[in-house]
Amino acid sequence: MPVALVTGGSRGIGAAIAAALAADGYDVAVGYRGGADAAAGVVAAIEATGRRGVALAADVAVEDEAAGLVSATEDALGPIDALVLNAGITRDGLFMRMSSEDWQSVIDTNLTGAFYVTRAALRGMLKRRGGSIVAVSSVVGLTGNPGQANYAAAKAGLIGMVKSLAREAGGRGVRVNAVAPGYIATDMTADLPDTTRDQILGATPLGRLGTPEDVAGVVSFLCSDAAGFITGSVISIDGGLAT
Ligand code: NAD
Repeated sequence: MPVALVTGGSRGIGAAIAAALAADGYDVAVGYRGGADAAAGVVAAIEATGRRGVALAADVAVEDEAAGLVSATEDALGPIDALVLNAGITRDGLFMRMSSEDWQSVIDTNLTGAFYVTRAALRGMLKRRGGSIVAVSSVVGLTGNPGQANYAAAKAGLIGMVKSLAREAGGRGVRVNAVAPGYIATDMTADLPDTTRDQILGATPLGRLGTPEDVAGVVSFLCSDAAGFITGSVISIDGGLAT
C-alpha cells in the first residue's frame, strides 16, 4: 500500500488531508506537536477505513525530531510516497512591534521545519524515483497581509522552496507542489474578529470561508497519478480571494 506522512495531521486542514489520503488508499502517518488525543482520533478514523495509521509526536522545527518523524514513519509503515508539509503556526503582530521571537518561531516551524522534513524524506524518494510532496502555503504568501509579515515570509518561502526542489527532483520522478488556501474555518482562524471575517467574506467571490475538505481534495489530487504532469505549481484554494 502507498504511504503518506502528513505533518500537523492532528486537527484542522491536516486531519482532513490525512482522512482524504486514507480514503485514497494510503497508509497514513499523522505528525503532530501537541494534542495526542486528537491525533489518536485521526488515526482511529484512518484505521476504520481499513488502512493503517500511526500518530507520531515531533516538533518539526527541531532538526533531529523532524528527521526522526520521517524514520519513524518508514519504520511503522514503509517508504513514503506522499509527503504533506502542513504543520504551521501564526504569531501575528504589526511589523514595528513584532518581537524577534515571534518572527523566528514562525519561520522555524512553517519554513525551516518543512525543509528539515523534506530533506529527510527526499533521499528515499530520489532513490525510488518517485514521490509527491505538497506544501501547504497560504494566500498570504502570495499577497502579504498586515500583521502577518512573519507568516507571509514563511509561506512565500515555501513557494520558493517548492519551485526550486521541483526543478532539482523532476528528473527523478519526484513531483513537488504547493497549495495556497485562503481563509479556512479551523482553530487557526476561529478567533478572527467579526469585522475581519466580514471583510474577508466581502472580498471572496464565492462568499464563504473554505473548509478543511476543500483543501484536502486538492492535496489528494496533487498526490495522485491524475496530477502526474504537475510539478512546481501553486494551486490557490481561496474562493477567488486573490484573483
Ligand atoms: P491548526 O492550528 O488547526 O493545525 C496546525 C497543526 O500543525 C496541528 O496539528 C499542530 O499540532 C501542528 N503543528 C504546529 N506546530 C508544529 C510543530 N512545531 N511541529 C509539528 N507540528 C506542529 O491549523 P490549520 O488551520 O489546520 O492549518 C494547517 C496549515 O494550513 C498551516 O500550515 C496553516 O498555516 C495553513 N493554512 C491555514 C489557513 C486557514 O485559514 N486555517 C489558510 C492558509 C493556510
